[in-house]
Amino acid sequence: AKKSIGEKICFYESEMDEASRMRRTMARDIWVALEQGQFFLNYQVQRAVNPDRVTGYEVLLRWRHPELGLISPAVFIPVAEECGAIGAIGDWVLENACREAMQWNLQPKIAVNLSPLQLNNVSMIDRVRNVLAETGLPAERLELEVTESALVGDKARALHILQEIKAMGATIAIDDFGSGYSSLETLRSFPFDKIKLDRSFISELETSRQAKAFVRAILALGHSLNVSVLAEGVETEQQLAVLQQEGCHQMQGFLFGRPETLAILAETRSLQAID
Ligand code: C2E
Ligand code: CA
Ligand code: CA
Ligand code: CA
Repeated sequence: AKKSIGEKICFYESEMDEASRMRRTMARDIWVALEQGQFFLNYQVQRAVNPDRVTGYEVLLRWRHPELGLISPAVFIPVAEECGAIGAIGDWVLENACREAMQWNLQPKIAVNLSPLQLNNVSMIDRVRNVLAETGLPAERLELEVTESALVGDKARALHILQEIKAMGATIAIDDFGSGYSSLETLRSFPFDKIKLDRSFISELETSRQAKAFVRAILALGHSLNVSVLAEGVETEQQLAVLQQEGCHQMQGFLFGRPETLAILAETRSLQAID
């Protein structure tokens, strides 16, 4: 049966109600979640091919909500940013990632995602310094992933914060590169150590000549700027083959490993907790 326009509107409205109800629930529970230990960290391997080696582990946050179940960070991070909890959550992630990296001797480094809001305040510089001092993780083993949207607020301040963190010895990656609107400008304004090629390019690699041309151009740019380029979301052998052919050797994606807790990763990799 055909749906009337009225019915359609009702349908969309109830879906929206559902989404906003979920957001309200998350905003209400997010602080309790932090106190009660409902957050945990997953790690996804990043690797280079020829020669084969692990180049790092990206830290990905998870929330196991008692009623809503496992919630994706793509859903709850925006809520945390909206309700003012992102600072506390970001601190929790940084601290626990550095501690776990030490505990499991994760080599050569971990990559932690930063919310743009974490680059709003210069206190972030001391937070990073303190976490490194407290956990004992050498700064060289910490990479921070920032998106271009991190640089839309007070750009000068954000860049200053990144510069100071880089001066400690940590590295900075630009995340989701190519998905924003001012990528080249961003790249020009800060000495990033790594470009993470957005997954959308990789998923279209086999079907779109244009995607392939962009990948090739970004690789050339990375090469001439002496910035490494990592392809995100590599899922198939064909994508791997095209990327290798184009000279992209750093990769991350389901083909190499899914995000998992360190306890699970340890079952398949040579990880061992240090007590
Ligand atoms: P992101 O930083 O772009 O992280 C990569 C996302 O792609 C992850 O989703 C990962 O699970 C997924 N992924 C990895 N390989 C593949 C693949 O081969 N195919 C496909 N389809 N997906 C793949 P996840 O874990 O759901 O995280 C989503 C986003 O949430 C992240 O995107 C990041 O922006 C944000 N996020 C995650 N953890 C944190 C955190 O601790 N702090 C902040 N501020 N944001 C975080
Ligand atoms: Ca990331
Ligand atoms: Ca990304
Ligand atoms: Ca993303």
